[in-house]
Amino acid sequence: MSIIILDKDVVSQIAAGEVVERPASVVKELVENSLDAGSSQISIEVKGGGVSLIRVTDNGTGILAKEVALAFERYATSKIGNLEDLESISSLGFRGEALPSIAAVAQLDINTHAVGETGGSYLSLKDGIVIEQRSQGRSQGTTVTVRNLFRRVPARLKFLKSSTTENSHIANVVSQYALAFPEVKFALFIDGRVALRTPGSGQLIDSVIEVYGLEVAQNMLKIGSGDKEWEGGIAASSPLVSGMVGSPTISRSNRGYLSFFVNRRWISSRLLAWAVEEAYHGLLMAGKHPIAIINISLPPQEVDVNIHPTKTEIRFQNEHTVFSAVQKAVRQALIEQVPVPKIEEVATTYGAPSELRQVLWTLPERGNSFISLPVASQTPEVSLPVLRVLGQLLNSYIIAEGPDGLYLIDQHAAHERILFEKIKLQGSRQEIEVQGLLEPVTFEVNPKQEEVLKSHHENLAEFGFSIEPFGDRTYLVRAVPVLLYKKDWAGMVRELLDSLPGGDKGDWTEKITISIACHGAVRAGQALTDDEMRGLIRQLEQVALPHTCPHGRPTMIHLNSGQLRKEFGRG
Ligand code: ADP
Ligand code: MG
Repeated sequence: MSIIILDKDVVSQIAAGEVVERPASVVKELVENSLDAGSSQISIEVKGGGVSLIRVTDNGTGILAKEVALAFERYATSKIGNLEDLESISSLGFRGEALPSIAAVAQLDINTHAVGETGGSYLSLKDGIVIEQRSQGRSQGTTVTVRNLFRRVPARLKFLKSSTTENSHIANVVSQYALAFPEVKFALFIDGRVALRTPGSGQLIDSVIEVYGLEVAQNMLKIGSGDKEWEGGIAASSPLVSGMVGSPTISRSNRGYLSFFVNRRWISSRLLAWAVEEAYHGLLMAGKHPIAIINISLPPQEVDVNIHPTKTEIRFQNEHTVFSAVQKAVRQALIEQVPVPKIEEVATTYGAPSELRQVLWTLPERGNSFISLPVASQTPEVSLPVLRVLGQLLNSYIIAEGPDGLYLIDQHAAHERILFEKIKLQGSRQEIEVQGLLEPVTFEVNPKQEEVLKSHHENLAEFGFSIEPFGDRTYLVRAVPVLLYKKDWAGMVRELLDSLPGGDKGDWTEKITISIACHGAVRAGQALTDDEMRGLIRQLEQVALPHTCPHGRPTMIHLNSGQLRKEFGRG
């Protein structure tokens, strides 16, 4: 076949295909246009999964009557003018592709009334060609109506999922923009029902209530500098991070609850998802994901949004800075909720002698590293209320009563958390307690384990293991951490060597700490005396993060009095 230049119709179909993948893409483009037009109210109406009808109505600046037809030409835009503008984009749209693309794959009409003009205009297009244009009044703003989407593109139509699925994609798009623009009143109607309505109060929490419900909203923590939150939107220097994240108690089983907005553009980013999940490290169970709404504002020159026609992928000039700004902001919020203290020695006010100095704990300052904060094993502040032990269940769970209902505590997980924080504290002060063995014990390893042992022998030594080579893949162990004395320390070391084919020191320290805590902790199935249970609960009350074990599993179940009443049908 010889080379030809494709005709205009084919070109426009190919181009449209990139922008309009499914009904939700149309909604996204139209809502972005309404937002760029400075609207304070946007209403979206869809029918038949968006295939029969999508109508977006706004009260924005509108389009001048003489420019309405022009807006449907490919690459017609009012948002950028030259190459320089492309370097620093502050609007959501800029490619001038959405309206012509939608018009190429659907029947479209628009009624708009521009600010400063009297009356409005109406334009109707079929298969991308204007079939009617006249004046038609309306209040200031724009309404775009899209019908019979993909009627001319059966291949696309065939790939659409059920109306329910398409509706859920549409609801997601609107929800995301409702979260990004709390000052805008959104209303979404699906087949005549109200699917979402936000008040446009300017408070993110109000959007969260509408999108995720009250229970989630009650468990959200603010991140970043609160007062700067919605000011102006775009930062002058380095990334500013704001938004909200869920407390670890309200995790979800997929990543669909992570929202990222860069200069208020909804984007998808695996890098940022990872930054957030990293910040939850040790707080969520395996397979659980957080809820987060992250706004990043940074100078427009530092981000390239011109990567893909849908504008959801972006590139940061300084990826690393953004990553750590996000991770830090999230971690900070999580840590502040469950105060992780810092030691400060202060003389007691009544001038007690120095040996009676009290250890006071204060919150770490903003911006401090949060990687190895000491823990609150002696803190007078408590993260749990005082609990009264009632008994043990199945030799595995401690039943306790608090001021606010019943607590069922997993003895192993709770003890693991206590030991984990204790080891971390001792490690940071280089005060790990070591127990020498009466007789050195021989310890054999396989070749793979030996490789790991050789390169990380020192890390183990830091935690109190004295292990010397004794030839022929055999080692002599002379001392172990006190916590593992008379426990299966050999099993623990083997497990550790098997699980770690290398890795950096940071990982090692954490892994060894978790591993010692796990093997040193009381087991499930072990009967405990009342005193032992009380001792364990007292220690748990003192730790910084009492609600999860170091693997992220919960240490306890709490039923408050309200829940108990409800369970018994009394309210
Ligand atoms: P882009 O958004 O990339 O500029 P579009 O094809 O989406 O391209 O829109 C073309 C132009 O039409 C916009 O630049 C804008 O001037 C105008 N426009 C589209 N929708 C609206 C709207 N809802 N309110 C005001 N102007 C609009
Ligand atoms: Mg646009």
